[in-house]
Amino acid sequence: MPKDQTAVMCHNIAKYNREHQQPDLTPLEAAEMLEDIAVVSDLKAVDGKRSGVVKIGRVDAEDLRIAASYLRKIAAGEYKPVVHAHWKLVSESTQCDLVKCTHCGRSIAVARNVPLDEWRAAKPYCDQCGALMNGKSDDHA
Ligand SMILES: [Zn+2]
Repeated sequence: MPKDQTAVMCHNIAKYNREHQQPDLTPLEAAEMLEDIAVVSDLKAVDGKRSGVVKIGRVDAEDLRIAASYLRKIAAGEYKPVVHAHWKLVSESTQCDLVKCTHCGRSIAVARNVPLDEWRAAKPYCDQCGALMNGKSDDHA
């Protein structure tokens, strides 16, 4: 769907919400609204022509369904904000290095015979908080 058309639709939804004093739509409500518009656009009149109740093209209707499917995934919690962190080396001993997730503080002891860079490469996510371990690191060994 062209950007200006999407902008007009967003503007109209926001205007409708203001006029009806509704809180912002939840992702699920927005998905249902887009799906309703797509369904209505597919309605056919008795003569087999498109009804024209909602004048959007077949491709645009499909785009609405795609947008709605993403909104449904957002509503289901499939997409979450990505947290960036890194494994910070906090102490070294003869036996092991102690690294800590800079987001949640999870500490893990890494045996000294395992190179820290290799260990970090094998552990791209914090197993406690799920942070993506690509954040800035200031302690490259
Ligand atoms: Zn963490």
